Amino acid sequence: SSKNLQGYAPICLGLEDFYIRRLYLRIQDCFGRPIASPPDAWIDVVERYSNDNNKTLLRTAKTSKCLNLGSYNYLGFAAADEYCTPRVIEALRRFSPSTCGARVDGGTTVLHTELEELVAKFVGKPAAVVLGMGYVTNSAIIPALIGKGGLIISDSLNHNSIINGARGSGATVRVFQHNMPSHLEEVLREQIAEGQPRTHRPWKKIIVLVEGIYSMEGELCKLPEITAVCKKYKAYTYLDEAHSIGAIGKTGRGVCEQLGVDTADVDIMMGTFTKSFGSCGGYIAGSKELIQYLKYSCPAHLYATSMSPPAVQQVISAVKVVLGEDGSNRGAQKLARIRENSNFFRSELQKMGFEVLGDNDSPIMPIMLYNPAKIPAFSRECLRQNVAVVMAAFPATPLLLARARICISASHTREDLVKGLEVISRVGDLIGIKYFPVEHQKH
Ligand code: PMP
Repeated sequence: SSKNLQGYAPICLGLEDFYIRRLYLRIQDCFGRPIASPPDAWIDVVERYSNDNNKTLLRTAKTSKCLNLGSYNYLGFAAADEYCTPRVIEALRRFSPSTCGARVDGGTTVLHTELEELVAKFVGKPAAVVLGMGYVTNSAIIPALIGKGGLIISDSLNHNSIINGARGSGATVRVFQHNMPSHLEEVLREQIAEGQPRTHRPWKKIIVLVEGIYSMEGELCKLPEITAVCKKYKAYTYLDEAHSIGAIGKTGRGVCEQLGVDTADVDIMMGTFTKSFGSCGGYIAGSKELIQYLKYSCPAHLYATSMSPPAVQQVISAVKVVLGEDGSNRGAQKLARIRENSNFFRSELQKMGFEVLGDNDSPIMPIMLYNPAKIPAFSRECLRQNVAVVMAAFPATPLLLARARICISASHTREDLVKGLEVISRVGDLIGIKYFPVEHQKH
């Protein structure tokens, strides 16, 4: 009944078909299962968790240790760290968990200003502003950048926070085919002539929205080609680096560094602290004028309580480790490790015959299941063998393109990865998802 569905609203949103609703109700235990530890390489997963179990799970609930192949903890900073953790505790003592104020109302600490300078330096832009949540960074900054009379051209697989920001802006929104610069150009050509001055166009402003690494696909943005098209048509580029900042590029500076794009060619750089840096919050980096403008026009900056100071300190410390400013070379080691781990895991999965999406060096590697009915078998069987995976399904992906979304971390050891591969291989045989059998690959 619809009453029963209330608790499952996020996954059922927009699902009209009765049978699809029934299916999702039966596999609710594959989503949102609580854990009782940091999201590191190994996690404590609550054992008894089912859809009809609406009771509060106590922190004493029985858990099992599982290999974690699902968290965005790319550099391993989500666990206790010899450099970050003591500084975060110190920040908690000195500043408390909350600033109890918006940035303009006493909610700016010396840590916030230090972080903004550090982020600007790290991503290679003149200035930056930080906000309390990555999701809100997209959904509140995009409407501050563009409005009625403007044109947004958005990649078809952009994250929900970007879609939300674009829709809420009041600008006209057009979508181009995922990661296809030629289609972006086609959409632009329908609207304006090449080289037409900004002042002579039917649009006040044109912004192209893309991501560095697409979170459901594990794929790198074709940024060199996209920035070239944007330049040709004088459109602004907005790049969401939630999954690429800190995770790729020789020194962790994201997709620009990875693909050799000059950061001057990307007008607005957005990112989050929730993945590679093991914290929370988001940033926008750009020209000094742009950041100054956003600080006085974005409601999420003006009216929302600022980032929690210990979370700010966590990012400062993690970025310093990545930069080698902690006096060690752990940052470089972590970066080398995540690349090595990701490429090893991806190539082994491919050798086994799985259909794996995404590019080399990307820590995200979705394994295609297609049929959503295979979700519970994959998820439950992996869990039974002490491997925790994240299932990506409708509405985050098209209904018949369900997948297990594997995320690799620098904190995984080779032994961890080998265990994960063994379990996934067994489960893959059991449920028949090795769509490229090994014999077939030899021909
Ligand atoms: N952008 C992208 C591309 C994301 O994948 C996410 C969340 N995973 C966000 C923004 C929102 O960031 P946060 O989770 O830090 O709020």
